[in-house]
Amino acid sequence: MKIAMLARNPNLYSHRRMVEAAEARGHTLDILNTLRCTVNIASHRPTLTYNGATLAGYDAVIPRIGASITNYGLAVLRQFEMGGVWPLNESVAIGRSRDKLRSMQILAKHGLGLPLTAYANDPKQAEEIIKAVKGPPVVIKLLEGTQGIGVVLAETMSSAKSVIEAFRGANVNILVQEFIKEAGGTDIRALVVGGKVVAAMQRTGAADDFRSNLHRGGSAQVIKITPEERSTAVRAANRMGLNVCGVDMLRSNHGPVIMEVNSSPGLEGIEKATGKDVAGMIIKFIEDNAKAGKTKTKGK
Ligand code: ADP
Repeated sequence: MKIAMLARNPNLYSHRRMVEAAEARGHTLDILNTLRCTVNIASHRPTLTYNGATLAGYDAVIPRIGASITNYGLAVLRQFEMGGVWPLNESVAIGRSRDKLRSMQILAKHGLGLPLTAYANDPKQAEEIIKAVKGPPVVIKLLEGTQGIGVVLAETMSSAKSVIEAFRGANVNILVQEFIKEAGGTDIRALVVGGKVVAAMQRTGAADDFRSNLHRGGSAQVIKITPEERSTAVRAANRMGLNVCGVDMLRSNHGPVIMEVNSSPGLEGIEKATGKDVAGMIIKFIEDNAKAGKTKTKGK
């Protein structure tokens, strides 16, 4: 097969592993810098060019679109989809998962476990929102945040109110959540490929940090997840429409609660913690499923 991967940095562990895994299975994988792909919108002939040449002949495309270039990256991916190239994750599903609020609304609608969460635009309602999620304490997070940046724990009513006011004053959108204290600064990342959890790890935050992000100095270990956690991860992936994703969950007193569904999960932490060839499993999934024109949404 001839596979394209939309990614900006070819040297990232995850991207190098995908190239290795594809080549080991006899495929070619070209890394295309997403921002250098040019979208040509012409009636009946949606094409893409890269450094002046038309992109053609790909059997599949792997989107690894960074959060900061979501809009442009998804436009490029849609163009591939409209040209009939099979995407590992579809543009519509990625768009859904990149919007935290939209994702949570979808997951909640289908009965998946989530922390009590409230969203409001008016800082005058701060107290009401805090009470709605049974706080304080509460976790306040930026809707556009990644890697744990903009996730704040406020332990008292007055600190929670001032954080909400400060964020709203800066004109950024926030979610207010019940604080899952019993998770103890630890979360679970379940990696789903084709409707199955293929690897899982537990991440523990640096000392004194309630956030478990590896980017914030957390550490990862292999973990055996419960059947309930497994089915939560698989159902979340299905509801989001993602073939490959990382589902982050906390262990709460009321069962697993989902933090986030990540459509471009990093492979380094999970492969190193579990010793599994996740990149190989993803390439195998592409082999078994890539068919021209076989996308659910075709970017619409
Ligand atoms: P990001 O998307 O920036 O990583 P998250 O919402 O995943 O932000 O939060 C980062 C980390 O903070 C989580 O992995 C978790 O360890 C911790 N955390 C987030 N929300 C809560 C919460 N409601 N209760 C307890 N811990 C939380």
